[in-house]
Amino acid sequence: MNLSYWEYNTWLANIDFTIVGSGIVGLSCALQLRLRYPKAKIIVLEKGILPQGASTKNAGFACFGSISEILSDLEHHSEEEVQRLIRQRYNGIALLRNTLGDTEIDYQNYGGHELFISENPALYQKCSEQLPYINALTEPIFGKAGFREHSNSFGFKNILPTYITNSHESQIDTGKMMRALVQKVLKSDITILNGVNVTHFSEKKAAVAVQTDRFEFDTRKLFIATNGFATHLIQEPVRPARAQILITKPIAPLHIKGTFHLDQGYYYFRNVGNSILLGGGRNLNFKGETTFALGETDQIQQRLEQLLKTTILPGTPFEIEHRWSGIMGVGPQKKPIVKAISDNIFCGVRLGGMGIAIGSSIGKELSDLL
Ligand SMILES: Cc1cc2nc3c(=O)[nH]c(=O)nc-3n(C[C@H](O)[C@H](O)[C@H](O)COP(=O)(O)OP(=O)(O)OC[C@H]3O[C@@H](n4cnc5c(N)ncnc54)[C@H](O)[C@@H]3O)c2cc1C
Repeated sequence: MNLSYWEYNTWLANIDFTIVGSGIVGLSCALQLRLRYPKAKIIVLEKGILPQGASTKNAGFACFGSISEILSDLEHHSEEEVQRLIRQRYNGIALLRNTLGDTEIDYQNYGGHELFISENPALYQKCSEQLPYINALTEPIFGKAGFREHSNSFGFKNILPTYITNSHESQIDTGKMMRALVQKVLKSDITILNGVNVTHFSEKKAAVAVQTDRFEFDTRKLFIATNGFATHLIQEPVRPARAQILITKPIAPLHIKGTFHLDQGYYYFRNVGNSILLGGGRNLNFKGETTFALGETDQIQQRLEQLLKTTILPGTPFEIEHRWSGIMGVGPQKKPIVKAISDNIFCGVRLGGMGIAIGSSIGKELSDLL
């Protein structure tokens, strides 16, 4: 595209900081840079007409890890590492709430519950036995015992009669959160250009030349926040991981409130007002869901509907309102990759399934690399 003199000089000349990706990490990084550099010219480039990865597609759990997830993490990480991971999520949610405000993101603290399927009593047994240990491990973070047993008060079927509940776990409205973040970025005199795909970059002496599918320009510093799509631009161990979701039409009256993790976190659901949002099922076809392409499959969508019928809403008629998917960034380790690639290029990618919780802090960490 041949930009005019005016377009080029106004939008693309003398750029100090360019951020690739307008998900929660890219936007949080941009805001933090503005706080430290009030006069800098900052631009965010996004390939979608809206953010097109995970940040506008997710389930909106503000969670710290269910008990079985924490126990599984302890098999591969030290106690200190696991504590650090949980603290990072706790602090990240606090930062997000502080930055945008609870009303803006519709933050609701209904608690979160892990449900155990009837076929796997051993997992429940293990989690129940380890409850005092996990509470002791997490007490320095939550300030009091985070986890407790809770009877099946919502009447789910085909699960064991007791959940393990974390009263600190909460939910947000993903759309409202991202819209508030975009508005705050725009108010901070940061430009967001949508529909621009960054295809390549190369280092110059004191700048980075950025090529997109529409134009080229130079920037002093480049921040890559493209999560699941990272390998299109940088060589880092990140795989795309598609996650599918559906939401029902409102069911009145809906007695279910909160966030729920089922079958070791392979499935997750929550109420959104009087509707049920349910996602998961990647374990049915890990290979097929390792893709950069958005889309839904019959296999996973049918399994989600079956779970609604047999486990979550047994005996309650429901209709599906909407189905969609998003692309996460995952890898051999759960840790995000936040690092300098050179003096002028930085990345904050591979947020896994917890980017709502840690996205704000990772955006700050990314900006702090400068
Ligand atoms: C279905 C689903 C449910 C989830 N549920 C939860 C949950 O309940 N709680 C939780 O904490 N986390 C959840 N997650 C994970 C969370 O959404 C992500 O970890 C988080 O949004 C990642 O944010 P990000 O900014 O790193 O990446 P993204 O939001 O993916 O942003 C990256 C952006 O970069 C853009 N981009 C990529 N390549 C280019 C390029 N070359 N040029 C320009 N732009 C580019 C993409 O379009 C995208 O908008 C879920 C994810 C999914 C998909």
